[in-house]
Amino acid sequence: MVKRAKITIRGTVQGVGFRPYVFKMAVGCALKGYVANTPTGVDIEVEGEDAGGFVDQLLKRPPALSSIEEASVEFLPLKGYEDFTIRKSPVNTAPSTQIAPDISICCDCLNELLDPNNRRYLYPFINCTNCGPRYSIIKAVPYDRKNTTMSGFPMCEDCRGEYVNPEDRRFHAEPIACEKCGPALVLDLPNRHYTVAAATPIESVIRLLKQGAIVGVKGIGGFHLICDALNGDAVKTLRKRKKRQKKPFAMMAATVDSCREFAHISDKEEVMLASPRHPIVLLKQRDSLISPLVSGGVGYHGLMLPYTPLHYLLFYHPSGSSNPPHFKSLVVTSANHPGDPVITDNDEAVGKLSGVADAFLLHNRDIYMGSDDSVVRVRQDGIPMFIRRSRGYVAEALLIDGDGPDVAAYGGDLKNTFTLLKGNHALLSPYHGDMENQGTMEFFSRNLKNMSEIFGINPAIAACDAHPGYITHAMAKESGAGRPILIQHHHAHALSVMAEHQLTADAVAVVLDGTGYGADGNIWGGEFLIANPYGFKRAGHFKYMPLPGGDKAAKEPRRMAVAYVVDAFGNGAGGALEAIGYTARHGGEFIDAILKIIPVREFSPLSSSAGRLFDAVSSILAIVDINTYEGQAAMELEAVISPEAVGSYPFRISEGGIVDFSGAIEAVVSDVVEGIGRGKIAACFHNTVINAVIDLAMRVSNTAGLRDVILSGGVFQNAYLLDNTIRRLKMLGLNVYTNEKVPCNDGGISLGQAYAARFMAKER
Ligand code: ZN
Ligand code: ZN
Ligand code: FE
Repeated sequence: MVKRAKITIRGTVQGVGFRPYVFKMAVGCALKGYVANTPTGVDIEVEGEDAGGFVDQLLKRPPALSSIEEASVEFLPLKGYEDFTIRKSPVNTAPSTQIAPDISICCDCLNELLDPNNRRYLYPFINCTNCGPRYSIIKAVPYDRKNTTMSGFPMCEDCRGEYVNPEDRRFHAEPIACEKCGPALVLDLPNRHYTVAAATPIESVIRLLKQGAIVGVKGIGGFHLICDALNGDAVKTLRKRKKRQKKPFAMMAATVDSCREFAHISDKEEVMLASPRHPIVLLKQRDSLISPLVSGGVGYHGLMLPYTPLHYLLFYHPSGSSNPPHFKSLVVTSANHPGDPVITDNDEAVGKLSGVADAFLLHNRDIYMGSDDSVVRVRQDGIPMFIRRSRGYVAEALLIDGDGPDVAAYGGDLKNTFTLLKGNHALLSPYHGDMENQGTMEFFSRNLKNMSEIFGINPAIAACDAHPGYITHAMAKESGAGRPILIQHHHAHALSVMAEHQLTADAVAVVLDGTGYGADGNIWGGEFLIANPYGFKRAGHFKYMPLPGGDKAAKEPRRMAVAYVVDAFGNGAGGALEAIGYTARHGGEFIDAILKIIPVREFSPLSSSAGRLFDAVSSILAIVDINTYEGQAAMELEAVISPEAVGSYPFRISEGGIVDFSGAIEAVVSDVVEGIGRGKIAACFHNTVINAVIDLAMRVSNTAGLRDVILSGGVFQNAYLLDNTIRRLKMLGLNVYTNEKVPCNDGGISLGQAYAARFMAKER
């Protein structure tokens, strides 16, 4: 029977080849009607014998990159369509859809890129409806070429032919381009030390990299600095020029198999590496030719596969011999200075990096919205977790429970992201960085404005961290959305997990991180809460310790080591420090100065930080005394763990849930004095923290009668700690909830703030 079906779809359906897919399927089923992008998604009408079959087939097997959140189907009276068309997008309607993330080059495009008979042979901006830039080039919705940074490139006849041909795989591929009509590469060579005489910019860059040069390369979401990872001198030069002593560099290798030369890769990790989003995946190192300078003392490599045609050409350009690829592995690190946002603009790159890069590979397709590479790790249980959620994931919405007014949540001042809520969609910004930096603040403001405009979001509620000194706190106050809702830092961490898992009832939350403003005015960080979206009760915490010198204590783990040794040994502290070689290493003067300020609250505020405990032990073991980047001491401590070592140290939990590790510190010191290996001590220390977490979480769970346990906070980026804590809590029969879609570090707290703000707004 001839039928007419109207299908209304919401979800990620624009910029993912949805309309051409529908077109082909409809024509294949001999149906008539139309498909059109709408502000909220896609509308389809089909008319013909097989309308019902079409609906089933489409909803069962939508295009690979799309995700359908909601679909409604109506069967209506016949209209007598004459053909099937892709309708022009309507204008002047309130935008509220989401935009697809930037997607790595697909297999079809890769084949064409390397096929000498294809008209896009070696064209570094090849893309199609299934791949290429999206988020980074979009300026307004609907997602049409005129609303992207490709608007300045009129299509040539050949490209237009493909764009309008429903049978073509580039049908309505908005960034479609070719050598004739699209963006082009330029090589900028400010450093005359290198000379190149190559036919194309790509070939020149390959030669430069082979000579050990450092090249600034414009990617999809921003600029990278690239050098040959197997050239120790090049890596050393990059570290020196970038003033980056030890923080690990990410690498790019041509294939999963080439990654295997440098790291152990499980099936799940392989899936992550090769996903169309191509994040950096943290993988356990194996012995290889890679200079140890690349990873700088942590036990893993951050590896990713090439994700743009340009990246592929660096490995596979046919000049010379490209089989095997030109490079086994390249260091590919974001080009910005520490704390600065990703660099997106040609002039800015050349201006800021002239002292760092020997050459620049530039192009004229503008990056409208920048994003850093995303970083993920696959947990022991196979679930991926984010260290940073950015390129390849923004601005795909997360679904949350409930509906209500639009919300803007400003996040925290470190590792900042913001979250916008519209309906049941949570839109996370890309990773911004540290807000004390002027450039980062501007990046934040620009993204907030752009994303609000593109998605038509008018926040009626602002939410931010309760820290009165946070810049994000001040910005939220001035947002025009009224008095902001203040959310305690660790509550927000717990809420980020609740938002992800749509939890609303009381749960036990264990939040371990470095620093957060506490409700009692102290600095919190090792927290056991009973939390729900309306509020929380503090059920326990790591014992307060003085932070000698305040912020300096986070920078210098050796200060925390002295504080912990004083706490554990009292009057015997001097002897203990002497015995572990501290006096010799840091000098009596330094130790005396620290001892003097420890009792003075003005100079040594109190903190229950979990991060600082790891710092202290790292320094007692002489692993890291002074951090050159955030988290270094804890990361290098984790890296030395001997996995086969067993055992743990004593700790005490007193009335009121105060966790005291002085027994553990005493034992660590005595093991150091006895010459026990660091691998064993590090393992025992981690086991102690795990035991303490399990012990107190169980007590709180039993007392409150709650079976749901939440784990969050940046300290849980530690794989050994997280994997073992999850495993043991599950063995005890508890329901364990963790961050899977946003980072457990401060990059995820804006989601928690946003989620709770809706609940709290109802109460005020
Ligand atoms: Zn493609
Ligand atoms: Zn063209
Ligand atoms: Fe935090």
